[in-house]
Amino acid sequence: MSATLTDARREQAIRLAENGARSLIERQLQAKLAQMILGFQFNYIAELERQNLLNEPDAFERLPAILVDPTFEARIAGELYRASSVAFEAGAVVALHQMGFEATAPRVSKLRGKRARVEVLKAFKLKFRLTNGAINLKILERAQAIAHQAVKATVEATQRTLKELALAGGITAGAAIAKLKRQKFPTSFAGRIAETEAHAAYEDGQHETYKKSGVLYHSWITVGDNRVRPWHVTNEAEGLVRVGDPFPSGQVHPGDGPLSVNCRCSVIPEVPSALDLIPWDGG
Ligand SMILES: [Zn+2]
Repeated sequence: MSATLTDARREQAIRLAENGARSLIERQLQAKLAQMILGFQFNYIAELERQNLLNEPDAFERLPAILVDPTFEARIAGELYRASSVAFEAGAVVALHQMGFEATAPRVSKLRGKRARVEVLKAFKLKFRLTNGAINLKILERAQAIAHQAVKATVEATQRTLKELALAGGITAGAAIAKLKRQKFPTSFAGRIAETEAHAAYEDGQHETYKKSGVLYHSWITVGDNRVRPWHVTNEAEGLVRVGDPFPSGQVHPGDGPLSVNCRCSVIPEVPSALDLIPWDGG
């Protein structure tokens, strides 16, 4: 099977990468995580109040926040895993489309929101489902590591707020909750995690699909504005790079490694017309 990309299809692939399912996954994940973080903070304050510890200096030692809700970390990891594996599938279907195949991923198609539904369903027919055990495990382990960091940061942010209130002269649960509600922490922190994780999983899906389908070369694409990292401008200027080899930044693909927070870059494959590709179905 061979495929040739016209400029129009390249354009469409880049547009899908930037505006389609991925941003919807990001927004849904952000909303979900922010809601969970706020809920965790509220529960902690309610429990401190119930145990008359709200104004105790050693309240955090006597009642660690995580003891109030021991399932918090696992629930955050679960949300991250679910969103990341759907984002991986979204990256995979875009990669398949870029290679000239028509593909759909049922979980991506089911995303609520008109934009993702229209763009994804219009373009893809082949069914992709991430059933590969090693890749699922890799996504799960990353989700667990990020969840662990997220819980630590949430506990610290909550303790900071309560300490500030205590220093200002006594806390009531109502005042603590009002202050937490005014804070941007849950939304901005959840936003950073959601953007970084959905992007990383999406780009990983794209990359694995090239590798497993037989694409040999690809090039780095930035969105072209002045917020793009200098290293990523250099990556784009490099042109074609062999799939699996590092770009000048040292990254193998966008979303790879620590240079990826808030990154919006993507890649497009080089698909020579005579090349035989076997589209990967996620297994
Ligand atoms: Zn970038």
